[in-house]
Amino acid sequence: MCVGCREVRRHDELIRVVTGTDGELAVSRDLPGRGAWLCSDSALECATIASRRNRWSVALRQPVDRDQAERLVDALKRADEEALSR
Ligand SMILES: [Zn+2]
Repeated sequence: MCVGCREVRRHDELIRVVTGTDGELAVSRDLPGRGAWLCSDSALECATIASRRNRWSVALRQPVDRDQAERLVDALKRADEEALSR
């Protein structure tokens, strides 16, 4: 289930967000730990919703502050822009 829009989707339609070794939220299938899921086709929108409603802490079962959530949204935004400029 997506932490943003709460839609239940197949795992191949979702991307996984975990807390990386540096303490920042990162998109990764491989990093260990509890993950939260976002729709891959609307990751930016769903991450924004999750951040606004403060759902990361619950989904990841650890404190996630607003700045961390915002940095993840920024990273997704940049990834989107890079994909568009390709
Ligand atoms: Zn979603």
